[in-house]
Amino acid sequence: MFAGKTDELLRLLRRASVGGRSVMLIRPSADTRSPAEVAESRSGARFDSIAVGSASDIVPTVMTARAEVIAIDEVEFFGYEVAAVADRLATDGYEVIVSGLDTDFAGRPFGALPNLLAMADSVTKLSAVCVFPGCGEEATRTQRLVNNEPAAIDDALIVVGGTEGAREPDRYEARCRTHHRVAPARHGTNLAFTSPEPEALTSPESGVSSSNGHDEFSLSELPAP
Ligand SMILES: [Zn+2]
Repeated sequence: MFAGKTDELLRLLRRASVGGRSVMLIRPSADTRSPAEVAESRSGARFDSIAVGSASDIVPTVMTARAEVIAIDEVEFFGYEVAAVADRLATDGYEVIVSGLDTDFAGRPFGALPNLLAMADSVTKLSAVCVFPGCGEEATRTQRLVNNEPAAIDDALIVVGGTEGAREPDRYEARCRTHHRVAPARHGTNLAFTSPEPEALTSPESGVSSSNGHDEFSLSELPAP
C-alpha cells in the first residue's frame, strides 16, 4: 500500500520508451480503479494500457502490436497461469516487467507472485511505511480492516471495492510485521497462515474485482535472454 509500485513500473516503461524501445502495458480488466485504456498510479502518473480479462489473453494481445517491452501490472489479479505466460514471453525474446502484491491481507504468498519471484532475473521489492500510530517502520504487510477491525483469516482473498481512505471503516493500511493483525476464522476451523489452494484464488471471471491492498510490492523483471 502506497509503496509506489505502479509509479516504478511506469518509470521503467518511460525509460524504455525514451531509449527508443516500443512498450506495451497490460492490466487486468478486473482492476476497475483505472479506466481500461489508462493505468493510473496513486500519485497521478498515467500511461496508456490495454486491459485483458485473463492471463490467456495476454499472448494474443502482445501479438497484436510490435512491442519489445511487455509490462503486466497488478499481476495478482491473473491467477497462477500468468507466471507461465511471463516466462514464455521472456523466452521468446521480450523484456517482461511484472508488478504485483507478493502477499495477501493475511501475509500469505499471493497467487503467481512467489513463482514469478523465483523465475525472475531480477527483483525489486518496494515497501511503504507502517501507519500504526507511533510506528513508522518499514511496512511489509497489508492490513485489511473490516468495520475498523482486522479481517478474518477466511475472509475473501480479494474484496470488491476496498478503499484506502483513512476514515473508512473498511479499508487497507500499510503495516509492519509487528502491527499486522489477522482475526480468527469466521467460519469453521482456523486455517491460519496456510497457503490457499489454487482454486481458492478468485479469478477475474468469478466477478470479484478491485483490491486496493498494497502493502508490500514486488517488481519482477524478466529481461530477454
Ligand atoms: Zn508498525
